[in-house]
Amino acid sequence: MPVSPGRRGAIAFFVTVCVSLVVLAIALNIGWIVLNWREAVPLLLGVLVFAAIIAGLILNTTFLIREIRRNEQHDAFVNSVTHELKTPVTSLRLHLETLKVRGHALDEAKRQEFYDTMLEDSERLLTTIEHVLQTGRAGRAPLHKSRVDLRGLVDECVTSTLTRRHLSSDTIRVMPPRTGETTIEVMGDREELRGAIMNLIDNAVKYSDTNSGLDISARRSDGQVVLTLRDYGRGIPETELPHIFEKFYRGKQSSGKISGAGLGLAIVRAVIDAHGGKIWAESRQGEGSTFHIALPVANEVNS
Ligand code: ADP
Repeated sequence: MPVSPGRRGAIAFFVTVCVSLVVLAIALNIGWIVLNWREAVPLLLGVLVFAAIIAGLILNTTFLIREIRRNEQHDAFVNSVTHELKTPVTSLRLHLETLKVRGHALDEAKRQEFYDTMLEDSERLLTTIEHVLQTGRAGRAPLHKSRVDLRGLVDECVTSTLTRRHLSSDTIRVMPPRTGETTIEVMGDREELRGAIMNLIDNAVKYSDTNSGLDISARRSDGQVVLTLRDYGRGIPETELPHIFEKFYRGKQSSGKISGAGLGLAIVRAVIDAHGGKIWAESRQGEGSTFHIALPVANEVNS
């Protein structure tokens, strides 16, 4: 996560102070060695004391910098999550008030529109809460591993997204297995993997124009299965691509306009890492994005 200019200044200050003090300590140490080079005991004691002072300085500065970065993360967390919680709650409240005061005067179509918006808002709230909970446990909670049929899981995620987002069935295309290909099973926590795949599909839909489409395919390679999700949406600028898996990172075009707290991809990466897999992305601004997940295949892991 990029550090804010104010905190970057604080880090630069502490590093400068640390380097100056270390240089001073080394100079004093050299002076001590020159003055005492004939007497072994004070020489050795002096060198040890200076080494301890230098190590203490470096440790202290490292600790301070870590705390500054942690504070930055804390602020980013509060800012993005508060915004993500407040927006749907405000909208829900507004719609409920309107329904309460003028509900009888609204025609059926308008009322349905209100209900749909409120359902979307509650969905957004639930997603944010789920992301916050997952961020807390990602990489720490034990995995409940079992054999998971990857294609079955992908189909389940696709059906759920199509229904939830009212999309036509050809928007998300899942490539059928090649002839003769057996079921691809991975050893993993079904719920965690489901969350990760749902996140990637949700992003592909969220960052694309309606109906621009998403292609999903899976192929085996060297004891691994590589799941690929290719969308034709807005794509990711080259400068942003290295940061998208960082906690709280949001693309410039996303902030403020598209819902999200910048936690989704960080959670996906933590889940895939915990399964001994790998995730990476390729993209060009305006030309869509491709996300790949590599996971060890169950049969080959356990045979
Ligand atoms: P969020 O969606 O809440 O912003 P994520 O961690 O899921 O958080 O994504 C981080 C950033 O990566 C997004 O803000 C967006 O800029 C970019 N991104 C992720 N997926 C896609 C995608 N499929 N197409 C374009 N940009 C994407």
